Amino acid sequence: MSFKSLGLSDALLKAISKKGYTTPSPIQTKAIPPILEGKDVLASAQTGTGKTAGFTLPLLQLLSQKNILRHRPVRALVLTPTRELAAQVFANVKEYSEFLDLRSAVIFGGVNQRPQVAKLRQGVDILVATPGRLLDLQNQGFLSLSKIDILVLDEADRMLDMGFLRDIERIMKLMPSRRQNLMFSATFSKEIKKLANGILHHPVQVEATPENSTVEAISQKIYRVAKGKKTGLIIKLISDGNWQQVLVFTRTKHGANKLCKKMIGAGITAAAIHGNKSQGARTKALAGFKSGNVSALVATDIAARGLDIPLLPHVINFELPNISEDYVHRIGRTGRAGARGEAISLVSADETTYLRDIEKLVGEKIPVEIVEGFEPDPNASTTPIKQGQRGGRNNRQKNSNSRSSNSGRTGNNNDSKSGKSRRNRNKRRQR
Ligand code: AMP
Repeated sequence: MSFKSLGLSDALLKAISKKGYTTPSPIQTKAIPPILEGKDVLASAQTGTGKTAGFTLPLLQLLSQKNILRHRPVRALVLTPTRELAAQVFANVKEYSEFLDLRSAVIFGGVNQRPQVAKLRQGVDILVATPGRLLDLQNQGFLSLSKIDILVLDEADRMLDMGFLRDIERIMKLMPSRRQNLMFSATFSKEIKKLANGILHHPVQVEATPENSTVEAISQKIYRVAKGKKTGLIIKLISDGNWQQVLVFTRTKHGANKLCKKMIGAGITAAAIHGNKSQGARTKALAGFKSGNVSALVATDIAARGLDIPLLPHVINFELPNISEDYVHRIGRTGRAGARGEAISLVSADETTYLRDIEKLVGEKIPVEIVEGFEPDPNASTTPIKQGQRGGRNNRQKNSNSRSSNSGRTGNNNDSKSGKSRRNRNKRRQR
């Protein structure tokens, strides 16, 4: 299978070959033809599968085939849950559209709106946006969605997790009802299926990996360890293995900072990335990690979402996520594009229930190891720890403040929004 045989134009083929891609990935092979036919598509694909090109390439082709309108109203909208993903999708749109007469822009919260508004004023064919800033600028009259032909909801599951359902519903009302809809999601919960039913019309369903299953190229391992010995163990693993590029997940922002400091103290070049960091700090940490100046990137789930880090050899869960699907997202960061990767989880007694849930979801028992000197505590309780309660209350307050000012909602509250919806989900599960 080649990109040419998928029906892509010469201008796109030129951009693809400039990127160095030779063969389309499975999601691209499956998604591109129906999108080019103008059909709605519901795709199950994680980050790392090549999904961005899977929707961007045909979207660009469809737009370039239509007449360019005089004022260049926005004709294609790509909605993403986080700023990082928005920036990344935009970078891809720019690259793939290099040889086409199409204009694109990206808008997200947490940064000054002025340059974004200036860009919109010049006329934009393709807009990549996070929901909060999009609604904000629309409310202020800086953009109209009345000429949208194609809508893409990228990482729709994460958008729901982050509490964007209401925003999505509001955005839908601002667009013409006749349009092409593409929805990408790594997992398919009941909520996602409901959202898809409300937005998509007779969608073609495509899948890159089986639903809710881990990628085969990833070898998974559990280290059972006493809670207080986790930091020592992670430093040992990274130092002994001389790992140069490892992504570490913590459950909380505070935990990410704390671990990062300890790693730096032990001589590991580390940086933390989470929703409380400024956009500049996040971009700098990610750039350092990509260039190899930083060997350990410590991240919370939300901050890591959508990071484009190809061929990542190691992912470590310093703590297991309390939402099992997040485990699949996290370990999807390794073993990308056919490369083998290793996903390690440090599990203490109080995470036993989470581990059981994860094993149920991925449908396999993950091999367990114990490292001498870092044994689990036989007397520790297996009762799950309460999830970030202190942070939760503070964050709720923050959320309500930012809602009333109706700005920057895609900014620093990302992690906290997620925390709130997770807590709700947990409550539902307990019932
Ligand atoms: P994505 O899942 O869209 O985040 O893409 C994951 C990574 O795969 C990105 O670094 C892309 O540049 C890369 N990629 C996308 N399509 C291909 C392809 N057909 N061949 C090789 N790499 C690709």
